[in-house]
Amino acid sequence: MTSAASQYDPYDFANRRHIGPTLAEIGEMLERVGAPSLDALIDETLPPDIRQAGGLDFGRALTERRAIERMRETADKNRLLVSLIGQGYHGTTMPPAIQRNIFENPAWYTAYSPYQPEISQGRLEALLNFQTLVCDLTALDVANASLLDEATAAAEAMGMAKRVATSKADAFFIDRDCLPQTIAVLRTRAAPLGWRIVVGDPFTDLDPAAVFGALFQYPGVTGAIRDLSEPIAALHGAGAVAVVAADPLALTLLKAPGEMGADIAVGSMQRYGVPMGYGGPHAAYMATRDAHKRALPGRIVGVSVDARGNRAYRLALQTREQHIRREKATSNICTSQVLLAVVASMYAVYHGPMGLKAIAQRVHRDAVRLAEGLERLGFTPDHAAFFDTVTVPVGAFQGVILRNAVANGVNLRKVGADRIGITVDERTRPDIVQAVWRAFGGDALAYDEAWPAPRLPAALHRTSAYLTHPIFHMNRAESEMTRYMRRLADRDLALDRAMIPLGSCTMKLNATAEMLPISWPEFSEIHPHVPADQAAGYHELIGDLSEKLCAITGYDAISMQPNSGAQGEYAGLLAIRGYHLSRGEAHRTVCLIPSSAHGTNPASAQMCGMSVVVVGADAHGNVDVDDFRRKAEQHADRLAACMITYPSTHGVFEARVRELCAIVHEHGGQVYLDGANLNALVGLARPGDIGADVSHLNLHKTFCIPHGGGGPGMGPIGVKAHLIPFLPGDPRTGEAGAVSAAPFGSTSILPISWSYCLMMGGRGLTQATRVAILNANYIAKRLESAYPILYAGAQGRVAHECIVDLRPFQKSAGVTNEDVAKRLIDCGFHPPTMSWPVAGTLMIEPTESETKGEIDRFCDAMLAIREEIRAIETGRADRADNPLKNAPHTVQDLIGAWERPYSREAACFPAGARGMDKYWPPVNRVDNAYGDRNLMCSCPPPEAYDAAAE
Ligand SMILES: *Cc1c(COP(=O)(O)O)cnc(C)c1O
Repeated sequence: MTSAASQYDPYDFANRRHIGPTLAEIGEMLERVGAPSLDALIDETLPPDIRQAGGLDFGRALTERRAIERMRETADKNRLLVSLIGQGYHGTTMPPAIQRNIFENPAWYTAYSPYQPEISQGRLEALLNFQTLVCDLTALDVANASLLDEATAAAEAMGMAKRVATSKADAFFIDRDCLPQTIAVLRTRAAPLGWRIVVGDPFTDLDPAAVFGALFQYPGVTGAIRDLSEPIAALHGAGAVAVVAADPLALTLLKAPGEMGADIAVGSMQRYGVPMGYGGPHAAYMATRDAHKRALPGRIVGVSVDARGNRAYRLALQTREQHIRREKATSNICTSQVLLAVVASMYAVYHGPMGLKAIAQRVHRDAVRLAEGLERLGFTPDHAAFFDTVTVPVGAFQGVILRNAVANGVNLRKVGADRIGITVDERTRPDIVQAVWRAFGGDALAYDEAWPAPRLPAALHRTSAYLTHPIFHMNRAESEMTRYMRRLADRDLALDRAMIPLGSCTMKLNATAEMLPISWPEFSEIHPHVPADQAAGYHELIGDLSEKLCAITGYDAISMQPNSGAQGEYAGLLAIRGYHLSRGEAHRTVCLIPSSAHGTNPASAQMCGMSVVVVGADAHGNVDVDDFRRKAEQHADRLAACMITYPSTHGVFEARVRELCAIVHEHGGQVYLDGANLNALVGLARPGDIGADVSHLNLHKTFCIPHGGGGPGMGPIGVKAHLIPFLPGDPRTGEAGAVSAAPFGSTSILPISWSYCLMMGGRGLTQATRVAILNANYIAKRLESAYPILYAGAQGRVAHECIVDLRPFQKSAGVTNEDVAKRLIDCGFHPPTMSWPVAGTLMIEPTESETKGEIDRFCDAMLAIREEIRAIETGRADRADNPLKNAPHTVQDLIGAWERPYSREAACFPAGARGMDKYWPPVNRVDNAYGDRNLMCSCPPPEAYDAAAE
């Protein structure tokens, strides 16, 4: 293409869904940035020696209609049976009101992580409900706002146990009745940190003095329900920490982990209305005692106040997290599972404590009925007491019963060589129970509607109350529920309202056509452990998407297992570690990381037992190659890896990236290239060609999976051939090697990325990259006369994002980057990334999805804000009392006395705010420090609501 505007390209027209600017607008924007054509702009932006040879060729791009048909054909290749496999995954029903109003509602699923509390009050409230739910069920004091899955939550708990235990032992005990995938992930996690894993029976094999902690499953994977008070007390006697992985539905009937003395509880909230999805995404939970709250990993929502003293929510205790503490953080967790935590919390609001208990009782009764039938057939379950899971010895009949079950439409769990496990759930109905009996030879057994006697252990009945807060007792008429979900959604600013120009986070369009398939039962209701022939559609999808990602990245293989970018980093560094070990070079443990790296990089390196050596940046935002070389030489004997981001976190295509890779290789290290910025590379350059050995890709950035308000995400890794043997292993085996609970991570959201690739085609994807770069350069150009733009490439071009420096205005006007960020909320925008990678700046990434109109609205707002700053600089506005310092403004600012030196109109309707369509933030600026001083991380008592409403 010579000039984008000069020729009509029907191909681009087909991609109008994803690519914001029209061809005519592209022409105008090119003129503004001073480039004769898109090609010329790209030539000025990307160093020639990294450009990929041919273009991406994925054949013809599919129309939206054809792509949906293709999804349908693929979904139909999955065979949907009833899965009673259990093992951490259960059938459940997402109430339709929640499915349509949250799960399928872009107001919820296109929101970003709640780092800007003023525009996140809705999801923060839903997450506070989630934390309250978890605290109540577990009888512990503080819960976080979700982790990635139960297995990784258990691994985080092990790490936390090490931090808080007074015991100096270096072994961790795992109950043999834990989920196999949990045991696998813990084994993986423990190895690089030098911790020993002991698996056994807690009542006979646990030596409390030999361990720093232990994990128990409650109820166990075989269904056993044991009183854990005794082993927990023994652990405490030895200064060790007790972790209980508990089923949150069982906890409505059973004594809580906190009541048995547990220090930490973890688990999966999947069965609270979140479909199994062949492994995910689901929200895991984690709770602990008040004494350990500062050691808790993951995001925690807390209650604070805004500038008016009104109640406002925000993330608490952020100084524990990777973005601040880097390799000293409590974990590398960044993206978690907000959308699914919101769904689970709404499920609890929808059913209330009585409803949840009724569901649990129904599940239990069906388990008892099922067991009674099996007993009549001559099979004796292993455990006298159980909740939802029955394990039966079947001797040599195992194979035939499992096959019979499948023939009757039911998957059961194979346990060892001679047992079968059956786990019933919320959706189990009489015909399913009868189908199981038939599989066991009981064709004539009748389902008796009468309530059987429960078989829960008498000593472990739950007596304590839970979900007593009024939110779980609201009038649950659907009219009220719908309005509650709508009210919360309206408090938040998501992509369905305005551009979210978050540097590094790539908040691009999540097209509706891409989202449709994830609600289809053939994708959403598949248990992750079904036989492969029942998931043929998924395997076709994973295979083709992997091939496309290999073609895009230049890698030889992809692992879909990591379920976030940070998990991808961890998996990639483990692959590097495995490679060094295989060559007898276990001593290679040094990892070079530029000072500008994302906080997850050093935090992940630490989890792999690596020590971080920080490399500086030069004045242009590039990695300081001399410093890099010096440190590589200095640590040559122990060099394991470097982690670099490309284009750099400064938004620049470094010209010497090949040289960096060569230096590391020369000294025996491997190159980890953080692929979060792949949106600037697709179709133009490939990490695998530049010299990198492994990368993670954020499918929730570049490949259209929505952010969900802070998760889900997917962070698959691509590797060169020599690292293939060290890719994550199968978690179902229970062996070391797995990094997530499910073999393909959050599998059910992969159709989104796949359909994006199918609808764009290779050329469309490349055009998206080119327009993303154009959009960023256009913003840089429009803002450069008003604000210093930090960093550019050799020819003055930025990559797909740009950094606006606000530090000069601190001195000239007392204005900080935070003031500008909050003022942008008044203008109807989500603030850009604040103070990363450079303190005192804003990093803006428009993505290709934004139109020229929306980008101009944003630039107009930024330029108007510059005039407001100028008014302060020239003394026309007060230094302390001005629209920037008081931003954001709310409807409260329209009523009552007004004593500010500027008008209400100026306060509430600055440039960009769209008249009658204006977004009103629900709170004024939130006081973060107050919240940390007065920590409250579950729903405040009802009196507090009344006070706040005054
Ligand atoms: C987003 C991001 C990550 C982490 O990804 P998560 O999915 O949030 O864990 C890592 N590195 C960079 C540069 C990123 O922008």
